[in-house]
Amino acid sequence: MDLTFTPTELAFRDELRTWLRDHDPGPAPDGEDADFAWRRRFQEELAAGGWAGVHWPEDVGGRGATLTESAIFFEELARAGAPLPANVLGLVLAGPTIMSWGTDAQRERLLPAILDASEIWCQGFSEPSSGSDLASLRTRAVRDGDGWRITGQKVWTSFAQHARWCMLLARTDQDAPKHRGITYFLLDMEQDGVDVVPLRQITGESEFNELFLGGAWVPDDMVLGPVGAGWRVALTTLMNERAGLGFFLQARLRQDVDELAARIAQRGLLDDPAVAERLGELHRRTEVIRLTAYRGLSRTERDGEPGPEGSLTKWLWSETNQELTQFAVDVLGPTALDASDPWAHRLLRARGNTIEGGTTEVLRDIVSGRVLGLPKAR
Ligand SMILES: Cc1cc2nc3c(=O)[nH]c(=O)nc-3n(C[C@H](O)[C@H](O)[C@H](O)COP(=O)(O)OP(=O)(O)OC[C@H]3O[C@@H](n4cnc5c(N)ncnc54)[C@H](O)[C@@H]3O)c2cc1C
Repeated sequence: MDLTFTPTELAFRDELRTWLRDHDPGPAPDGEDADFAWRRRFQEELAAGGWAGVHWPEDVGGRGATLTESAIFFEELARAGAPLPANVLGLVLAGPTIMSWGTDAQRERLLPAILDASEIWCQGFSEPSSGSDLASLRTRAVRDGDGWRITGQKVWTSFAQHARWCMLLARTDQDAPKHRGITYFLLDMEQDGVDVVPLRQITGESEFNELFLGGAWVPDDMVLGPVGAGWRVALTTLMNERAGLGFFLQARLRQDVDELAARIAQRGLLDDPAVAERLGELHRRTEVIRLTAYRGLSRTERDGEPGPEGSLTKWLWSETNQELTQFAVDVLGPTALDASDPWAHRLLRARGNTIEGGTTEVLRDIVSGRVLGLPKAR
């Protein structure tokens, strides 16, 4: 694995740095809706500048960047203090899945509006009784005319309140083995039979929702991939999820570690051996995560698709971010728990890190079996 950027990659990075300097989105505004609108405006600007779909092929409006350039893109975004684009689920999950499995008509209809954030996407996978064991999902789709009628409930559906489209998994064959009876639908959220109910999180925000489906309809031409092949299509989405965001997350982690180190230094606490040891350990882990993310990238470049290493990055990142936020409030004291201090929000939001996008226990299973090749315990 060669970690030196080529002249082309360095030129890409410098062009992007200049663009980000000229298009500084400024600080995040207060309030959830204002924050989402801010991220949406930022994505519109990215799209206008040709930066929204960096890793998308040029014939679908992307920049055709290599995987390394795409990693540089997310690292630079985090380094510049820019937000993740509002339609991140569309750019990283839905778009690549539609490119892999979609018809020409689906690509033409759906991809452009992902890029400029004019149509936001959400991911309707998890259900009240199906999270880690996703294939046990019970939302049903039955034939109705030239389409499917959907009944059931999804939960933890992030950004559903803003979404025009949903990547929806539903069971179309009750008798087939559980992984084979699932179909992947592209659900139009703007119809009767789709109810979005916000869930309040520990941060006080309502980033995610319950999604009730009471007879919503999806036409045949909005089924993604073959009927009954939804599990395979969903794996494309999940692999992209873990691989795609890793670089942004590890770069933001680096920024947060550095910011905390500066605050600790300001208070003259760097000479305290206990503080220095914990900070040093966080620094080391952050560097390991960066290198692990690059190792996954090399493997993806070799094999053509993301491998199980994304699970390792996500697991290490989530635990390190929780440790970092806990350490910050331990060392900075009560001021870090003031609602106006960003560490208060970071501490509370980090609780979900070891659950969202696959729980740590499940990721450990994947890493032990598929990365390390260890035998199953039972
Ligand atoms: C902030 C946030 C945003 C989210 N956004 C979305 C979204 O947009 N769309 C969406 O579909 N979902 C979303 N989710 C849901 C997320 O994917 C699930 O919460 C996650 O997959 C776990 O499922 P569960 O909550 O049903 O827990 P369960 O699967 O019921 O797990 C409960 C506990 O059992 C453990 N466990 C389960 N199975 C095993 C096993 N085989 N071995 C060992 N331990 C096990 C788990 O690790 C966990 O500790 C989001 C979650 C969060 C926190």
